[in-house]
Amino acid sequence: MDEDDGKNPSEIFKKRLKSFFSPPDPQRKKNALPPKAHFSIWYFLIIFLLISVVQNYFLAPRVENIPYSKFKQSLVEGQVNNLVIGPDKINGKLKAKGDKAEQDFVTIRVEDPNLIKELDERKVSYSGLYESKLMANILSWVIPLAIFFIIWRYAMKRMGPGYGVMSFSKSKAKLFAENETKVTFADVAGIDEAKEELQEVVEFLKNPGKFQKLGGRIPKGVLLLGPPGTGKTLLAKAVAGEASVPFFSISGSEFVEMFVGVGAARVRDLFSQATSHAPCIIFIDELDALGKARGINVMGGHDEREQTLNQLLVEMDGFESNKGVIIMAATNRPEILDPALLRPGRFDRQVLVDRPDINGREAILKIHSRKVVLSPEVDLKKIAARTPGFVGADLANLVNEAALLAARKNKEEVTSAEFDEAIDRVVAGLEKKKRVMSPKEKEIVAYHESGHAIVAESVEHADPVHKISIIPRGVAALGYTQQQPTEDRYLMTKSELLDRMGVLLGGRVAEELVFGEISTGAQNDLQRATDIARSMVTEYGMSARLGLVAYERERRPMFLPESFTSGGKTYSEEKAAEIDGEISTVVEDTHQRVRGILGEKREVLNTLAKLLLEKEIVQGDEMRALLGKGEKKGQV
Ligand code: ADP
Ligand code: MG
Ligand code: ZN
Repeated sequence: MDEDDGKNPSEIFKKRLKSFFSPPDPQRKKNALPPKAHFSIWYFLIIFLLISVVQNYFLAPRVENIPYSKFKQSLVEGQVNNLVIGPDKINGKLKAKGDKAEQDFVTIRVEDPNLIKELDERKVSYSGLYESKLMANILSWVIPLAIFFIIWRYAMKRMGPGYGVMSFSKSKAKLFAENETKVTFADVAGIDEAKEELQEVVEFLKNPGKFQKLGGRIPKGVLLLGPPGTGKTLLAKAVAGEASVPFFSISGSEFVEMFVGVGAARVRDLFSQATSHAPCIIFIDELDALGKARGINVMGGHDEREQTLNQLLVEMDGFESNKGVIIMAATNRPEILDPALLRPGRFDRQVLVDRPDINGREAILKIHSRKVVLSPEVDLKKIAARTPGFVGADLANLVNEAALLAARKNKEEVTSAEFDEAIDRVVAGLEKKKRVMSPKEKEIVAYHESGHAIVAESVEHADPVHKISIIPRGVAALGYTQQQPTEDRYLMTKSELLDRMGVLLGGRVAEELVFGEISTGAQNDLQRATDIARSMVTEYGMSARLGLVAYERERRPMFLPESFTSGGKTYSEEKAAEIDGEISTVVEDTHQRVRGILGEKREVLNTLAKLLLEKEIVQGDEMRALLGKGEKKGQV
């Protein structure tokens, strides 16, 4: 967990400032990669002060400062002697008088044209003094300069390696020694599949020899993909903690600097450091900042970033994973990554860190409320049920808010009232970012997705259902039904296309049947179904009425995005009307067919929707059991 996490910038700034002006703490010194030669500016200042105090009070001869009038009076009384007359002041000796010993004195010179005459009259010995201003001049600018220099040096040291002018190319990676990442898998919950996949990495780091003996190739890079806040960074730290190896952590954006070539040098430096600490983990957070696909940027591109990325690719290739260094990276935008990064031999292992389901959320809540005093009536399961779409970070925040609210009310323990209030707060804060569904919406989505899934399992030519989920993702999708193709497809038959349309319409039909009313949630489904129907009619010649004429030609430029497509009609207005009519017929026929299917399976539809509401994710096999089908369709 980042030490700056969850603080506002001004607090962080204050903390930095404080740490800057306080003697260096030993902890920090221990973490630094090369042992930092450090000295504190405070020691320097204290010594400086001591020296000047000693000089002023003990070493300096006792000189009395007297006003000019007193000097003149003493002159008249014949008390002064041995004068040294400078341009600004007069030094001299007051003769011993009574019990007073001889005394040096100094007085500021005043405009007094007759002074020399008076001295001559009284036969006082005097001499002139040339006061050199050179020393004063030099000191007046050398000392401030020296002080600036010292402070600057000190600041550079203080900020750690990577900030000094001389060390721009040094990587800024933070090294956590093995006993410092105290995070273990026990601190991570709700993402069990990802945990299982990473178990192997832990095994390898613990015991590299075992895998090498059998000649197996160890994954070099592991890429953690998933929405923000799902625990990717946490998971990477947990791997290091479990395997108890050092952990280098750096963020992708830290490679990208304003000086050309620095990023690439940093990558080199990071890898060489890591190799000397093997076995260890290099963790590149926010990989997308660095690994954006090269050459996409039409506006001249960013050469520096490309260089850095190239260097990373080179280092990863020239890197023997048997040395025991594993590179982990995290991103929430895998789609913009350069394909070269995902090739075998680089980040070949990709682990999805998804939003947690209801059980996962309960487990995460449990972890974060370990240190919170909960009232016994608090039911974490209920809280989990109320927070679909929340990720680990949201839940951690929720528990914290509840605890703060309880403390504000001077309560002894956190009750469910505080949790209710905290949910409202967190949800209100999140509203702009993501959707949190009301129970009614959730019910509609559950029936909608069940409709898709049941149709997919009931028609002959659709792919089997892999899983159904009503956890909201992204902006538009409130739920999804994932189908798994049983084989790669290059050709599709007419009945397959019709069945695919049927599955798309299934969601909408389920809403019609159950609620007697339809929602806007099916818009995308309808669009896709219509597209299929249009292609069948106009491109594939699958309509009996319009025959084999291809009315649309594919005009997509091969290397340009879809939007560059220039459509042009090659048929008459009457034909257009006919085509539209035919498309409607195809869609409507399928609609009626799907109504028939779902009407027959109304019972299953209800059961499945209820199950979804309860568990949020239903696996394909569970659903087939409901339908009374043992095996995966398509494999029989
Ligand atoms: P990401 O890197 O995916 O954006 P983080 O790992 O930075 O998310 O998560 C931020 C914080 O949220 C963590 O420090 C942890 O307190 C909490 N958190 C996130 N996911 C989980 C989880 N699966 N289990 C427990 N805590 C989690
Ligand atoms: Mg992160
Ligand atoms: Zn749908």
